[in-house]
Amino acid sequence: MTRTDFTEITHSAVIRQETHGWRAKCLQRLIRLDMPVPRTVSLSFAAVRAIAAGNLPDMDRLLARFAPGQLLSVRPSPQFPDWGGPGALLNIGMNDTRHAEIAAAHGEPVATRLYLRFVQAYAQHVARLDPELFDAAEPCLPALQAALHDYENEMEEPFPQDPALQLAEVLRSMARAWEGTSARLLRQAKGAPAEAGLGLVVQAMAGGLGADNSGAGVIEFIDRVSGERRITGRFKAHGQGREALENGADTLYLTRDPRGPSLEDHSPEAFGALVRHGEIARAKLREEMQIEFTLDKGELAVLDAVPVVRSSRAEVRVAVALAEENIISRDEALMRVPPRALADLMHRQVDPRAPRDLFARGIAASPGAAQGRIVFTSSAAQASAAREEACILVRRETTPEDIRGMHAASGVLTERGGMTSHAAVIGRGLGLPCVVGASGVRVDMRERSVSVGGRVLREGDMITLDGSTGEVLAGTVPLLEPALDESFRTLLVWADARRDIGVRANADTPADAGIARGFEAEGVGLCRTEHMLFEDDRLLVMREMIFADTEQDRAAALERLLPMQRADFAHLFDIMQARPVCIRLFDPPLHEFLPHTREGMRGLADALDRPLSEITRRAEALSEFNPMLGMRGVRLGLTVPEIYDMQARAIFEAAAAVGGTRGDRVVPEIMIPLVSAVREVEMVKARVEAVAASVRAETGAEIDYRLGVMVETPRAALRAGEIAQHVSFLSFGTNDLTQMAYGLSRDDAGRFMSDYVKLGIFSEDPFQMLDREGVGELIMIGAERARVARPDLTLSVCGEHAGDPESIAFCRDAGFAYVSCSPFRVPVARLAAAQIAI
Ligand code: PEP
Ligand code: MG
Repeated sequence: MTRTDFTEITHSAVIRQETHGWRAKCLQRLIRLDMPVPRTVSLSFAAVRAIAAGNLPDMDRLLARFAPGQLLSVRPSPQFPDWGGPGALLNIGMNDTRHAEIAAAHGEPVATRLYLRFVQAYAQHVARLDPELFDAAEPCLPALQAALHDYENEMEEPFPQDPALQLAEVLRSMARAWEGTSARLLRQAKGAPAEAGLGLVVQAMAGGLGADNSGAGVIEFIDRVSGERRITGRFKAHGQGREALENGADTLYLTRDPRGPSLEDHSPEAFGALVRHGEIARAKLREEMQIEFTLDKGELAVLDAVPVVRSSRAEVRVAVALAEENIISRDEALMRVPPRALADLMHRQVDPRAPRDLFARGIAASPGAAQGRIVFTSSAAQASAAREEACILVRRETTPEDIRGMHAASGVLTERGGMTSHAAVIGRGLGLPCVVGASGVRVDMRERSVSVGGRVLREGDMITLDGSTGEVLAGTVPLLEPALDESFRTLLVWADARRDIGVRANADTPADAGIARGFEAEGVGLCRTEHMLFEDDRLLVMREMIFADTEQDRAAALERLLPMQRADFAHLFDIMQARPVCIRLFDPPLHEFLPHTREGMRGLADALDRPLSEITRRAEALSEFNPMLGMRGVRLGLTVPEIYDMQARAIFEAAAAVGGTRGDRVVPEIMIPLVSAVREVEMVKARVEAVAASVRAETGAEIDYRLGVMVETPRAALRAGEIAQHVSFLSFGTNDLTQMAYGLSRDDAGRFMSDYVKLGIFSEDPFQMLDREGVGELIMIGAERARVARPDLTLSVCGEHAGDPESIAFCRDAGFAYVSCSPFRVPVARLAAAQIAI
């Protein structure tokens, strides 16, 4: 190897993060800030690669950088802190001679503790001997002798005494550990490229062994969970490295504390210097750092500094605080917070410090943590809610009938389903933690139990869902409350100033719209009107409409639904003020409104005063082999046109009423679902216009509206040029479009999706992250053809992908006006959109 194998870190040395790693660069910054950093030598990525290949640097030359007999530490220095690397190794250079010298200077126990610690670490991490043999024994001379003896026994040679040999072996084992498969997989999961390099830093150990005022500690200047500014950390006399954090009885608090003695009292000068260094590091490194330090008879040394590991909430608070103090720019603050981390602030979280009893694992379909007693039916969930007792609704899968139960429950767990299955979509809409497609889980409705392998939980047992990770935990676990604080709001105001794509919300009910407003959505991009009809009183009228024998009976049922829908729409317009509201006409197949159990059928027979046999026969007649590809959306709308007529009338009358009281004009957007042929659009358009004309005539109000099509079949995307000529907007429904482009059921994909992703067949679940290559191409074809036909057309996406940061980037690249996602994803989308624009 050449003379550039290693570089002593000084003010002027050439140390770059891309070649020597973040730790080496960070230490150089501390040195340049005149902090008392002990002598440190950096080995570059190239040098460490050479070591792994068997080419060691000149060890004598390397050791000559340090005082004779100096104990050394080696720490990893990958390019970014979260790329891992082997653990630090301390006390290199300890041997029989140093043991005797240190024993003479500081006493035998101090020397023995250091030597034993080194032998244990070396045996486990360098010689790779059985860790159990070298477990932390109480430090005493016999324990040291036993460890040396065991080492010799296992290795068939005495413990190495030559510091150069010890150091060479430490460097070699760290370099090789970096090349190992598990280290590689771990760092790749954090985004490191396959060929990422490792640097190493070799540092003189700074005393800490003397009597009074000597030891090691760690200091942080924020609370890791809340992000508040306050000093935390510990100091341990005669300690080394991070031992002080082990919280032994012999550690000191840093600041004055009623619970025990503190460094501030004990060594006020050193404490003061430490706080000053901390302030400088924060301002100049532009980050909240954890500083590792030693005191040697009161003299301070700064050994290392790493960014404080912290919660998402603290991340937001720190980024905003640094920007408000002009330490970083607003753009940088925006870039520092991963958009998905905002979801952690909007929901309760499982306390990361708490132990977890894992029962099962599924798809993390709606974030946040929830806990409560297990219930298996919507009526049990409602009964629980009436008793003000939290419950978790557990189902094989949910159907529209379960909406009531979902409203009443704190969380939902389903055996089946994927990211866009019913439970997942509704869960996200309600902000309800939800885990779906839990693999290996069996829900037994008869036994009222849920099991995985041999483990069974029953109705009434406590369970905790972590909808952010997909974990299902037995029992209760401490939760952290949501944190929609000032920093959260400030960050999003900055995001809005930066982004250049709109963010609307999918809001089905006035309650959803209220949440959407709270999160500053710019409008409603999708109101799934059928969700307004699942509530108890409406459901019965819907069923009467479905079972109507004559046109008059059907008209009578729709006549009763009209004021209900009108009130809903008026409420929506009112909540959203002047913001646009896009209402989608009825979409699902009718049979979704029928009961699915015998008990439910009997209840309906009672309510409609008809024989049970007739109810079951009619329900059977409505069932389809492939309901998602059957009589739903515009197909139903044209076959039973009175439904859309009623909805159009309700929309116009509500707009006229709200506009009248407010003194402005409400211009509703009406969207037609599941279109595949232009003729469908022409026919619906004609009927909607006829309804508008009669409401105009009846009320004298100026009725204005925009008509649009939801592009969610591949054919609609291909024929978008033709369709665009009849409408003023197109919104891509990427849930159905993905389902149909892949021929993949969105309700059943959960069963094999994780296997498909694990096998690398799909790089991601296409229901979560938009498939740019296939579905994306269909969207681009549709958008281009539509724009040629009508350049002023508004284009958007309203499938679940609209809340996914990577998919939002696609929509922006495609020049779309806005994305529309579940209300609880609106903040995530606002931040993601800002990051894309920066
Ligand atoms: C879609 O298909 O993308 C969509 C938004 O509609 P839904 O999820 O209601 O089918
Ligand atoms: Mg759809």
